[in-house]
Amino acid sequence: MAPQIEWRKKCIGLEPIADAFINGRYVRPEQGKVFSRKSPVDGRSVGPVASCQPADIDAAVSSARSSFDDGRWHRLHPSRKKEILFDFAERIAEHAENLALLDAISMGKPVSVCLSHDIPLCIQCLKWYAEAIDKTYEKCTPGRPDAIGIISREPIGVVGAISAWNYPMENVAWKIAPALAAGNSIVLKPAEQSASSAIYLGQLANAAGIPEGVLNIVPGLGEIAGKALALHDDVDGIFFTGSTEVGKKIMTYAGQSNLKRVALECGGKSPFILLQDCPDLEEAVAVLADAIFMNQGQTCSAPSRLIVDRQVHGEIVDLLIHRTSRFLPGDPLDESSTVGAMVSHEQLEKVLDYVSSGVEEGAEIVAGGKPVHTVPGGAYYAPTLLVGVRNHMRIAREEIFGPVLCVIPVDGVEEAVRVANDSIYGLAASVWTRDINTAHQVARSLRVGTVHINCYDEADITAPFGGFKQSGSGSKDKSLQALNDYSEFKTTWLKLR
Ligand code: NAD
Repeated sequence: MAPQIEWRKKCIGLEPIADAFINGRYVRPEQGKVFSRKSPVDGRSVGPVASCQPADIDAAVSSARSSFDDGRWHRLHPSRKKEILFDFAERIAEHAENLALLDAISMGKPVSVCLSHDIPLCIQCLKWYAEAIDKTYEKCTPGRPDAIGIISREPIGVVGAISAWNYPMENVAWKIAPALAAGNSIVLKPAEQSASSAIYLGQLANAAGIPEGVLNIVPGLGEIAGKALALHDDVDGIFFTGSTEVGKKIMTYAGQSNLKRVALECGGKSPFILLQDCPDLEEAVAVLADAIFMNQGQTCSAPSRLIVDRQVHGEIVDLLIHRTSRFLPGDPLDESSTVGAMVSHEQLEKVLDYVSSGVEEGAEIVAGGKPVHTVPGGAYYAPTLLVGVRNHMRIAREEIFGPVLCVIPVDGVEEAVRVANDSIYGLAASVWTRDINTAHQVARSLRVGTVHINCYDEADITAPFGGFKQSGSGSKDKSLQALNDYSEFKTTWLKLR
């Protein structure tokens, strides 16, 4: 067995880069402004990190615009772009330990999970889109004898990408990989809570040969840096991952500025429907617990509403209570931990507030429901199970984004589907039944972007991921669909004489 890395010792030698990355160089923000955060691991200060202001966003957009206009990236031969993106992915693999450590310290995810999940998926994503570059064909209209219509793929131009922190490296890769593969120049505004790993990518992009100005990274506060990017008149598309509340603002900013393309990947309140003929209750509970409690419940598609037929409700709740103990948070810097801290002390407070509101409205806590003192000064919360939840309660309607499962009893399939769809969100869902007809009928009735039948979290880079209703709009992440979403399609007619 490989010897365990002493992550706390490794922290001492790791100096996070604080600066923005603009035009291929690390630069101080113009007014020298910075922000710091409290680590959710142990409450120590992390940062400072550059707090980019509108002038810095202008500089980054202008650098992206120059790199786009002279074609230094999008006019490279497809096979060369592919080589460069592969090299970028390999360099991320070489620096995986540093990247994992930066994310663990700043947003509380266990280093082991960063190394086994987030970073490999980021690398896979970059390589998958790199591979697509020289395998994606352009099209012609159906053969007319008198004319040819060529439908060519072109980059959008300057793309602004705003990311969330919950799967830091994956969230960033889902934006920059298809954007670069499609030939765009990018200004990336990473989430405040996971800015350091994103900033680190700048030097790796340079070393891999991504030309100057093609990938710019502007850390900063959402209300300042993110807003300036989304409002910018020289940004051609804004691709956002984050809350529905901020997603609505992004749409407004596009309308207030240049009507740039808007792509939103937002929040969720996904239902997990367990019918009385569920093929295997124990398996269903194991899958459900994993999906809601991993990453401290901070997963956009986490099934936070269990909609369960009353006939199996008691048995399911007993199994769940037993299962939650596996998801007690551990020290993110201990390699054996699989669940870590909440992203921040503020997020912990928010979860506490939601759980109290649930109890006030009549729900009952049967597991968890309190902070855990895993590491002094940290932000840790026990996996929590609330029973007696009604779908009109705040805890069933709003996204808590914590390890909290609301159990809603129902009678039969029809009520289950009605309750599942009674939400402003539509990201993902699951249905568990032995009956193939019921499974497909329910899957068709659910207004969500991804349905799982007798499973959850089956996903890979080949399938589009995104939401219906207020969970998203304008594009999907992953798959060739995302490559299309980061492209413009131009029709050129040629008259045959
Ligand atoms: P958030 O909306 O607070 O922030 C997301 C990003 O937007 C951050 O980079 C932030 O700095 C920026 N931002 C904040 N205010 C802004 C403004 N006024 N203008 C421009 N940018 C602004 O969300 P969060 O707390 O970072 O992330 C959690 C949310 O993300 C959850 O709702 C979760 O469901 C969602 N999410 C969705 C997906 C998906 O694929 N659908 C994936 C991951 C996370």
